[in-house]
Amino acid sequence: MFDPDFDGQKLMFHPDRVAQWLAEGKTSGPLYTELEISNRCNCRCLFCGVDHLVNGTGTIMAPDLAALVFDGLAELGNRSVMICGNGEPLLNPDVVEIVRMAAARMSVSMTTNGVALSPEKLSLIDELEWIRFSINGCDPENYALVHGTGKEVFTRVLANVESAVARKKRLNLAVTIGTQLVLLPENESGAVELARRLKAIGVDYFSIKPYSQHPLSRNRRQIDYRGLLDLEERLRPLEEDGFSIIFRAAAMQRAGTAKSYRSCRGIHFISFITADGAVWECNVFAGDDRFAVGKVGEQTLPEIWCGPVRQRVVDFIEHDFDLGQCRDLCRMEACNRYLWRLENPRPHDNFI
Ligand code: SF4
Ligand code: SF4
Repeated sequence: MFDPDFDGQKLMFHPDRVAQWLAEGKTSGPLYTELEISNRCNCRCLFCGVDHLVNGTGTIMAPDLAALVFDGLAELGNRSVMICGNGEPLLNPDVVEIVRMAAARMSVSMTTNGVALSPEKLSLIDELEWIRFSINGCDPENYALVHGTGKEVFTRVLANVESAVARKKRLNLAVTIGTQLVLLPENESGAVELARRLKAIGVDYFSIKPYSQHPLSRNRRQIDYRGLLDLEERLRPLEEDGFSIIFRAAAMQRAGTAKSYRSCRGIHFISFITADGAVWECNVFAGDDRFAVGKVGEQTLPEIWCGPVRQRVVDFIEHDFDLGQCRDLCRMEACNRYLWRLENPRPHDNFI
């Protein structure tokens, strides 16, 4: 059974690397990497946090470059890679090969809108620990509105999810098949019906998360979740063995509140690599030269991770960067709260 606490963190399961960071102020490599293999996308979501990057250069990562990335990550002791990024991974024609290469070396997952999960690509799910389909429209009209596609795409996406579930059952695969909706005023009224349909298809969970403003995105939205929290009560009755509802109320309530840490330490445990092989110290600021630490192909990943450029960027983030510029509820938020607390214990922390 997977851990449904999406608002928590799992650093305590990697005590060796955390102890190394506590003792030395740095780590010998990331634990987790987010890898973009395509920055093209076949949707134009009205909430897209990376609308300033998607379909900009149209870059697709080649298998040769991916092999260098995975070799470097394995050498650094990286334990998991999520294939996602500022685009849609299934638009990479070599996605099946790339997933297989990664799975031979570490745990692999994928987040996708699922639109391009063709029968030829379906076998990639065999290699994944989990796949999450981002479905943010609840019927053909609503999907077209939220994803900026034709109405027919909704039916295709649900059929693709159904094919994945059927393959999982037929081959008795271990992959967890999840679905996720970014809760918006535009899709709230259809969320229960969508959850019903996904449950009937047989996915493992349906997660509902809040929108979070990306500091660099063109779209600007302010959503007050207080009026949307009752959706959880309407979704909960659908839950049963084999189908979880993950309603991220804690994240919705934390949105817009002050951070409990004063410096980002999560960067010692994560890396982000874009389809051109560029390595960024933070995925939110990919494209911002202040966060660029090197490029795979010009250097190896171990050279980049342990090199002087990355050290300068880490020093800048830890000492000079104003966290007020960060993305609200960024991926490392829970890790940062934990790491800050380790560095700055509170009274009574010895009373375990
Ligand atoms: S599917 Fe993802 S990357 Fe593509 S437009 Fe939507 S939010 Fe952006
Ligand atoms: S957005 Fe800010 S807090 Fe989050 S990982 Fe990036 S630098 Fe750290």
